[in-house]
Amino acid sequence: MRTINSGNSLILKGTPVSSDSKLLDDVKQHLCTCSAGLKLTPDMEAFLKMPMRELYVSLPIHMDDGSIKVFKGFRVQYNEALGPTKGGIRFHPDETMETIRALAALMTWKCALHKLPLGGAKGGVVCSPKELSHRELERLSRAYIRGVYQIIGPDRDIPAPDMYTNPQIMAWMMDEYSKLAGKNVFGAITGKPTSLGGSAGRFDATAKGGLYAIREAAKEQGMELKDATVAVQGFGNVGYHAAYLAKKLFGCKVVAISDSKGGIYAENGLDPEDVSGYKHSAGSVLDYPGTENITNKELLELDVDILIPAALENVITKENAEKVRPKILAEMANGPTIREAEEILRSNGIHIIPDILCNGGGVIVSYFEMVQNESSIQWEEEEIESRLEKKMKEAYHSVYDFAAKNNVGMRQAAYTLAVGRVVEAMQLRGWI
Ligand code: NAD
Repeated sequence: MRTINSGNSLILKGTPVSSDSKLLDDVKQHLCTCSAGLKLTPDMEAFLKMPMRELYVSLPIHMDDGSIKVFKGFRVQYNEALGPTKGGIRFHPDETMETIRALAALMTWKCALHKLPLGGAKGGVVCSPKELSHRELERLSRAYIRGVYQIIGPDRDIPAPDMYTNPQIMAWMMDEYSKLAGKNVFGAITGKPTSLGGSAGRFDATAKGGLYAIREAAKEQGMELKDATVAVQGFGNVGYHAAYLAKKLFGCKVVAISDSKGGIYAENGLDPEDVSGYKHSAGSVLDYPGTENITNKELLELDVDILIPAALENVITKENAEKVRPKILAEMANGPTIREAEEILRSNGIHIIPDILCNGGGVIVSYFEMVQNESSIQWEEEEIESRLEKKMKEAYHSVYDFAAKNNVGMRQAAYTLAVGRVVEAMQLRGWI
């Protein structure tokens, strides 16, 4: 029987992408936690709580039925003190400017934490990609690039995939950018297919990076990874690879997996590859033979060693935090834990690997893709992997050591290191 830490089974289905500005408020509050340590003046703090640049675009698209539909898009360039900004593009029906702004801030701290010469950005289009035909999706992807063309580029801001965008969409976007520039500019977009200058190892980089962080955390916690139980929320790019690699690399037992329609549980473990094949034909992981259907809410409350939220933000809240009891919470999604919930998790002794640390593998390998595009070389997958592993290990231990030395949580440690680097760059550039 599956064990749930306690009753209550609200269904997460239909949860909006953000609860208005909650994620943004939390990101600002996390920044405040390191103000004193970094001796930030109120003016500096106010500046860091604001994006440097935002663009709203309206995108009229010719639909297959002959009608014209107008989609809303955004691009936020949060802070470019450390270099050109970088961040994914999300296609989601509930997308909001507040979420994009918060995610652009997270990208800024993430790039700084992982010592990449990049600032942070994020983009989004309000749309339901599952309801668009292949050609409509292509028109929308190209229209988005035309809309933001003036403010992006390899030296300005480099988009990448995120929720419901993929290498094919990146290929169309790179092609559109190149047409407008009148030359091939492969480095304008990352997350491309490898045949178009994409990097080996990008497709599973976020999950692999997160698993390297989990491995370091397990060592610190004295936890054996072989047969450790794992639950993964979200079964897209990050969630699928996290489940697949947890089993393949470490021999973990993946007992639960979910997607937007709900989840499945199997006490003796699942074969993520087989579940993926099933989802491909059935449209969801639900009703996978030999498993018990569970809700997304129930998945978060399972008694497992490692919980990996890999879908949406704001899923661990004040209401369910008492019942969320893994030994390690590996935040592969952006902003899955709301601030008030974190206090409860920490007082229950849960080791949190915060999002800006845990899911940095994607932007690290995107950065490797930029470097390869700029120098027209292609690294082998082994080289990418060993560089990624080195960076994730370094970042994990710098955060862990800082947290231990200063008696603060992992998130506060990560923010203090990251924000400190951005502030130093702004000071050296004479901005503040
Ligand atoms: P994706 O679009 O490939 O997959 C999203 C998954 O979430 C799908 O399986 C979908 O069914 C599931 N989902 C949607 N709504 C859900 C709900 N209400 N409950 C449970 N599951 C739901 O997206 P992705 O690229 O895997 O991104 C997942 C998360 O990881 C996001 O928070 C994203 O910002 C973050 N992230 C992604 C990358 C990357 O490289 N792709 C990098 C860093 C962070």
